[in-house]
Amino acid sequence: MPDPLDPGARRAILEAVDALQQDAVDALARLVRCPSTLGREASALDEMARLYESLGLESQRVPTVPAQLADHPGFSPPLIPYDGRDNVVAAHRPSGAGGNGRSLTLQGHVDVVPEGAADMWDTPPFEPAVRNGRMYGRGSGDMKAGDVAYCMAFKALRMAGLQPAAEVQMHSVIEEECTGNGALACMLAMPRTDAVIIPEPGPGMDALYTAEVGVVWAWVTVSGRPAHVRDMQSGINAIEAAYTIAAAFKDYEREMNAGERIHPAFRGLNHPVNVNFGSVEGGEWNSSVPTRARIGMRVGVMLGRTARETKADIERLVAAAAQDERLRGAHVKLEFKGFMADPCLFDTDAEATGGTLRDYPATGLTDGRHFVLYGNTPVACFGPDAQEIHGIDESVGLESMHGITRTIALTMAEWCGVEPMVAA
Ligand SMILES: [Zn+2]
Repeated sequence: MPDPLDPGARRAILEAVDALQQDAVDALARLVRCPSTLGREASALDEMARLYESLGLESQRVPTVPAQLADHPGFSPPLIPYDGRDNVVAAHRPSGAGGNGRSLTLQGHVDVVPEGAADMWDTPPFEPAVRNGRMYGRGSGDMKAGDVAYCMAFKALRMAGLQPAAEVQMHSVIEEECTGNGALACMLAMPRTDAVIIPEPGPGMDALYTAEVGVVWAWVTVSGRPAHVRDMQSGINAIEAAYTIAAAFKDYEREMNAGERIHPAFRGLNHPVNVNFGSVEGGEWNSSVPTRARIGMRVGVMLGRTARETKADIERLVAAAAQDERLRGAHVKLEFKGFMADPCLFDTDAEATGGTLRDYPATGLTDGRHFVLYGNTPVACFGPDAQEIHGIDESVGLESMHGITRTIALTMAEWCGVEPMVAA
């Protein structure tokens, strides 16, 4: 076991974090400027590679190869191909002078969700703007501030003349927001470490994730029969048919939130299992009975159930709804692309994160599940105060980002132990 951090080293690390505050804000602004939505992550990945290299580490690309992952229980069916979007990793290796500390992975995603209605933002979503101590921009909170925080934490140790006395890996991954396959590819490509820190944002405050739900993505496509509206009765309205199917999922959602189905980790939370209709497309013309409608949905999975069971529920619900007489023989196709993710419980006793973070059972998910469920590795998922993630005017508190940087720096120093810095 490494020695506890001595007060001089602790002070030097904290002073270094303070000295790095402007660097951190600049790095965050550069990352937010990368519009890294699905399929457009390349600039953000390049930015992370540059950040790793600025820490004196060599960056390395890890491709996401579905053929290699397809049999893994953590794999989710992809939405798009993976060319030109390789994940980025780096590893610090100790000199050995500091004894054998415990190794650590610092992990974060670079992908962001779509900006939504850009005209509703006070400032453009990919033009970072600082107001009242917060940086606004898509991905500022979820989770580019976390990505910057762990890099600055590592840099702070070096500025204090120290380095971790154990291996520290850094993973920048894609598709946390839709499959988790980038994280899975990196986890499998790299040696196991003794713990993982993922600085995902807290719910409007610094928080430590205690559990997270699972998620299944499904796509329902209804094909009706087109007709002129004057013969409306001869057609089959695909949009109305899709509504009928969607209604069945709202009943399911109610049932899944019944008290006796809620795992103790989520007790006290209002409505932890959510079914979201996230996209709908369909129809051709206001005066034509629509031929086709497609709904993209996200179905939450409570702890105690699996993604596979939820997939079976969805298949059963859609099959039953397809027989509804209101569908009048419309053709229904069900597909699973995107998340097929199990819920997980985080072992929050495993980490010495200071005890100042509020417990947070998350009704969304992170990449942490891969390490817990399939990597036998404890995960501490905690991050800065972010607001309106996935919404309009997403922001992160800059003071909170610096605070999380301090927490990561001290946790890394205590967990890994420290040794004198060796110049890169
Ligand atoms: Zn996130």
